[in-house]
Amino acid sequence: MTDNIRPLWQLLILAKDDKQSVSINCDECLLLIEYDADLLAAGDADDDVMSIINQHIMICSTCRNKLDDWIEQGSWKKTPYPYFNNQTRSEKENGNE
Ligand SMILES: [Zn+2]
Repeated sequence: MTDNIRPLWQLLILAKDDKQSVSINCDECLLLIEYDADLLAAGDADDDVMSIINQHIMICSTCRNKLDDWIEQGSWKKTPYPYFNNQTRSEKENGNE
């Protein structure tokens, strides 16, 4: 289905460069979700990356569901839902791992 996955660095350049017109496929979306999950865990999400993930999941229910599952599994338990909602990051956790 998706035989043309660009490497993460290339996607990041695209995100910084031209995020309005970046279109990614599902595999690339998952790459970026993984990347951004790491940043989120460190409390430092990348808005440009989130922006292109967001654009993809708006049109792709497959990835939206995967993202939901991912969040339910707890990978992002400290981050309720950074997408669709921009007031989730104001609340700080107290280091309760
Ligand atoms: Zn997708």
